[in-house]
Amino acid sequence: MAVKGTDLVKLLPKKTKCKECGFPTCFAFAMKLATGGTEISACPHLSDEVREQIEELLAPPIRPVAIGTGDKALVIGDEEVMYRHEKTFFHQPGIGVLVTDTDDEKEIERKVKSVEEMKFIWIGHALKADLVVLKSASGDKGKFLSLVKKAADMTDGAPLVLMADDIDTLLAGLEACGKERKPLLYAVTEENIDEAISKLGQAEVPLAVKADGLEKITALTEKLKEAGLQDLVVDAGSRTLWEAVRDQIFVRRAALKQGYKPLGHPTITFPCFMADDSRKELAIASALLTRYAGIIVLSDLKEDYLFPLVVLRMNIYTDPRVPMAVEAKIYEINEPTNVSPVLLTTNFALTYFSVANEIEATKVPTYLAIQDTEGLSVLTSWSAGKFNGETAGEFIKKSGIEQKTKNRRIVIPGLLARIRGELEDELPEWEVVIGPRDAAGISSFLPELVGRS
Ligand code: SF4
Repeated sequence: MAVKGTDLVKLLPKKTKCKECGFPTCFAFAMKLATGGTEISACPHLSDEVREQIEELLAPPIRPVAIGTGDKALVIGDEEVMYRHEKTFFHQPGIGVLVTDTDDEKEIERKVKSVEEMKFIWIGHALKADLVVLKSASGDKGKFLSLVKKAADMTDGAPLVLMADDIDTLLAGLEACGKERKPLLYAVTEENIDEAISKLGQAEVPLAVKADGLEKITALTEKLKEAGLQDLVVDAGSRTLWEAVRDQIFVRRAALKQGYKPLGHPTITFPCFMADDSRKELAIASALLTRYAGIIVLSDLKEDYLFPLVVLRMNIYTDPRVPMAVEAKIYEINEPTNVSPVLLTTNFALTYFSVANEIEATKVPTYLAIQDTEGLSVLTSWSAGKFNGETAGEFIKKSGIEQKTKNRRIVIPGLLARIRGELEDELPEWEVVIGPRDAAGISSFLPELVGRS
C-alpha cells in the first residue's frame, strides 16, 4: 500500500515561507517525498519521533533482505505488486541446495560445487542456483562446523544459510564461515527467541523466523522488531503444497494490501521437505516460485530439474514493461569472410538467439545484421514503423557491413516480404532476398543460398 503525500503532510510542521527543503511548501515536499523524489533528511525541522513515524510509513511493504555480500549477495523481498502485469516483480527468489552434515564427503563436495558451477546460458543470461543451505542434522556441533568451514572455503562468495536447532550452534557456525559472509541464520523460534535476541542481537546478519502458523510468526517478528532485529525471513512451517501456497499468498496480501508490517518480510520455503521424489519436488518448487517464495530450498541440484525452474524464474522475474533486447550491430557467425552473405532481423532477444543458433548450426559463414527495434519482434516492429525498408536501409548503410563483405545479397525475414521493394530502393547496390518465415527454415535455406552464389 503506497503511502500518500496527503498522509505525510499531516505530520510535517507546516511552517510558512520556510522552503529550507528546497520546495515552496510542506505540501509540495510531502508530495515529492511520497513518490521517492526527495529525502526525509531535507527537512531540518522534524523531531526524532516524527522522522521515525515518516520513515516507518515510507518503508517498503516487504522489507528487502540481503544474504551474503558484494556482487554475489542475494537480495529478496522489496516487492510492490501481487501480479507481475501490474508493474513488475523486482527480486527473483533464491534457489538453494540442502547439504547436511550427515551427507558423505563426496556428496557434500558435489552439492556445494553445483551451486556455482551448474549454469545454463539462456538467451544471453547465465541461469543458476544461488545458495548453499547447510543443516546440522547429526546433532554433533563439531561435524556441523567442519561442514560450514568446508562449504565456505569451497565457494567463491556464494550466499549461505546455516540451519541448526540451537542458537549456540548457529553462533559457532557464524564464526566458522565468518560474519562477513553475512549468512542467513535459521531459525528463531518460540522456544529460543529470548536467547536469540540476547546472543544474536549484535550479529548484524539476517535471521529466519520459524513457527507453526502465521499468527505465531507475527508474534515473533513483532518481538524481534522491538529488539531492533528487522532483517527477517519467515517460514510459517507449512510442509504440504496446499498449505505452503496458501501461506505465501496470505503473507504477500497482508503486506501489500493491508500494509501489515509484522508479515512484511520475504519467505523461505522447503520443497526438499515436502516431496519424496524429484518430479514432485520440482512441481512444488515451481508452484512456490510463481507464488511469491523468497527462497526455495531443494534437496539436490540436477540439471534436468534445475533448468526448467531457472527458466521459469527468469520468465516471471523479467520486467514486462521492457522488451528483452540484444545490442544492435553486425554479428559474425561461423567466421565470415569478405564474400559471406548478410541476414537482417530485429534486436528482440528471442529472435536474435533463434536466428543466430540456426545459422551457427548450418556452419555457413554469415553476417547477422541486428537492427535496433527497441526489442520488438519482426511483425510488431514493422507495425510500429520501426522496421521497414527505410529504417533497414539506413541501418545497413551506417553499420559498416559494406566494408566487411563484397557480397551484396541481403536476406530479410520471410514475414516481411512486403518491404523488399522499399529496401531495394534504399540499397540499389544490393539484391534483397526473401528468407524463411521462421528461424527453423534457415537450416535448409542458408546452405542453398550460398550454394547458388
Ligand atoms: S523544510 Fe520542512 S518545514 Fe520547511 S517547508 Fe520544507 S517541509 Fe516544510
